[in-house]
Amino acid sequence: MDLMEKIVSLSKRRGFIFPGSEIYGGLANSWDFGPLGVELKNNIKKEWWKRFVQSREDIVGIETALIMNPKVWEASGHLKTFSDPLADCKECRERFRADQLKNKKKCPSCGGQLTAARQFNLMFKTFIGPSEESANVAYFRPETAQGMFVNFEQVVNSTRKRLPFGIAQVGKAFRNEITPGNFIFRTREFEQMEIEYFIKKEDWEKQFEKWLKEMKQWIKHLGIATKNVEVIDIPKKELAHYSKRTVDIFYKFPFGHEELYGLAYRSDFDLKNHNQSYQDPQTGKQFVPHVIEPTWGVERTVLAVMVESYKEEKVKGETRVVMNFPNWLAPYKVAILPLSKKAPLTKLAKGIYKDLLPHFVCEYDETQSIGKRYRRQDEIGTPFCITVDFDSPKKKDVTVRDRRTMKQKRVKINKLQQYLNETL
Ligand code: ATP
Repeated sequence: MDLMEKIVSLSKRRGFIFPGSEIYGGLANSWDFGPLGVELKNNIKKEWWKRFVQSREDIVGIETALIMNPKVWEASGHLKTFSDPLADCKECRERFRADQLKNKKKCPSCGGQLTAARQFNLMFKTFIGPSEESANVAYFRPETAQGMFVNFEQVVNSTRKRLPFGIAQVGKAFRNEITPGNFIFRTREFEQMEIEYFIKKEDWEKQFEKWLKEMKQWIKHLGIATKNVEVIDIPKKELAHYSKRTVDIFYKFPFGHEELYGLAYRSDFDLKNHNQSYQDPQTGKQFVPHVIEPTWGVERTVLAVMVESYKEEKVKGETRVVMNFPNWLAPYKVAILPLSKKAPLTKLAKGIYKDLLPHFVCEYDETQSIGKRYRRQDEIGTPFCITVDFDSPKKKDVTVRDRRTMKQKRVKINKLQQYLNETL
């Protein structure tokens, strides 16, 4: 099995990510997050929000509707240009992204002839209300960004924020991708964490560098090694006409170097499109701010941290699979494991579990041998296992096993919470 197959299989077996609608034969390239996956995903979103919104004076968050007035997409240019080139095979009818084909004429699956490429708009269409008439057409948002632009003046007026400042949003986006795939890397519905950072035109280079640094630090915080990340400048001739610089941040996924995040200088293009402007409180001058846009995909973050954290080690002739998540990312922080399935050990262990539950995401497990239970916790990345053994009831202490070193330490039960707080 290659690394991706191992991760897909572990994800399903342990409840990180399940194939979507599986009992009905699935729905191609749709995925559901299980109990562990949703913890991991929420840890990412919570930490991102704390770091980029709550801990900063210059950024505020919003949450906007998934379905907006279609005029938004007309003004933003999405209706006209948010498309990928599509080519069909005349023989097997498979469809391809023409820009990703080496040979634009020959089908890579069956060798048949391909049609000429035509533009395919990626927005998901729907209808508002009961009648499916063209006047009622609407679109699921293909990015969260436009929500920030159309609310620019509302945010300025209600918060009195002054340049430079940012508006952030985390939420779902929908794209009718021609070729989704590679597990959760490219799907038709996904989540984005985006910031629109509004600046004065002359500051764009300085702010761009600042944001690039912020994004690199976030990647480091995820536990991702710098050697697995590459920052690629989009060549000048491929840049959108309004942008002077855009970079893609690539990660070494098992299926190749692919985009993890993006950072773009979008000039005043978006606010101008929506007729939004800003009045300088000092000079009274009215103008359209420029914007730097750092953007993070949530599912691509999940995938990158799973790939990065997955390790196999040989321990006493056996393979130990470990998810070396940084502690803050781990879905469960603590597992409570009694050495026997009987009282008084189980009673004591359940008591510890109940005491810790309000403070840490924990799991209680009394099945199988202790060795197997440690392995189970290792492969989901639980930082600490608390073992309640036969000495525990008398001595009022337990052992705490560290996932990284596999070393164990005896800790008094009444000091457990403090110990875990300090070490986590
Ligand atoms: P790609 O070139 O891979 O299609 P993009 O350049 O179109 O991506 P952006 O429009 O910059 O992507 O979207 C911002 C971020 O949203 C991306 O960096 C990525 O993390 C995430 N993203 C985009 N499309 C998808 C998708 N189909 N599935 C999952 N995540 C996505």
